[in-house]
Amino acid sequence: MFLIGCHLSSSGGFLAMGKTAASLGANVFQFFTRNPRGGSAKIWPDADIAAYAAFAAENGITAPLGHAPYTLNAAAEKPNIRQFARETMAEDLAKLERIPNALFNFHPGSHVGQGVERGIELIVECLNAAVDPDGAVPVLLETMAAKGSEIGGNFAELRAIIDGVDEKIRHRLGVTLDTCHVYDAGYNIVGDLDGVLAEFDRTIGLSRLKAVHLNDSKYPFASHHDRHEVIGGGSLGTDAIAAVINHKSLRDLPFYLETPNEPEGYAKEIEILRNLR
Ligand code: FE
Ligand code: FE
Ligand code: ZN
Repeated sequence: MFLIGCHLSSSGGFLAMGKTAASLGANVFQFFTRNPRGGSAKIWPDADIAAYAAFAAENGITAPLGHAPYTLNAAAEKPNIRQFARETMAEDLAKLERIPNALFNFHPGSHVGQGVERGIELIVECLNAAVDPDGAVPVLLETMAAKGSEIGGNFAELRAIIDGVDEKIRHRLGVTLDTCHVYDAGYNIVGDLDGVLAEFDRTIGLSRLKAVHLNDSKYPFASHHDRHEVIGGGSLGTDAIAAVINHKSLRDLPFYLETPNEPEGYAKEIEILRNLR
């Protein structure tokens, strides 16, 4: 089964997202757990979740991926920003436990000049405080473009975070591979997808890979800009995207488009991708 979908606005709640996903030909979707620039979204009433769960079961919608807000920086220097990160993560994870088959994705963080090692230490601290060993929602570290002082632009840093957390929560940690970000970070998935995935497997282990953000990239290889482009419109190109969605190590994962599109554009891309599959 091809699990393909896109990022949706969460402002109308879960049932609305499920219905929009179905109308776009998607069977998975991503959403922000709250306003991406801060604040809180009221998308969690019990009745809405129950209605969504019934609709999703009937319509084959699954794997809703809650994306943490961009303001969540577990590696921040300021203690109040780190406290916000811990509280937001704990609260969002608790809320996601109520959504069938939900996953949680976050940007590991930016060390803002403190150094990678210190940044990783702080991310580990946040995860140890926020992730409940008895919870079930996978907690996914996103592969980043290594823009500025971002952590997670190489696989070794993600491995160090996973190795660093308390053993009792390690089973909950996974990775989201963002195709724009990894190419932008210097992993050549256009010229050598097999080689990049072999390196991922050696460094992190493919069993940790739980989701793919499917994006083309506006900028050339290894440019660290993190600008997404529509499928086939950027430096990755349609052939490389087709290879990603059909690769034996990736094809069973859920794919989420985060391309610059309105809903109609997403519907078109989902159709194109279904044909490439
Ligand atoms: Fe992201
Ligand atoms: Fe992404
Ligand atoms: Zn990005």
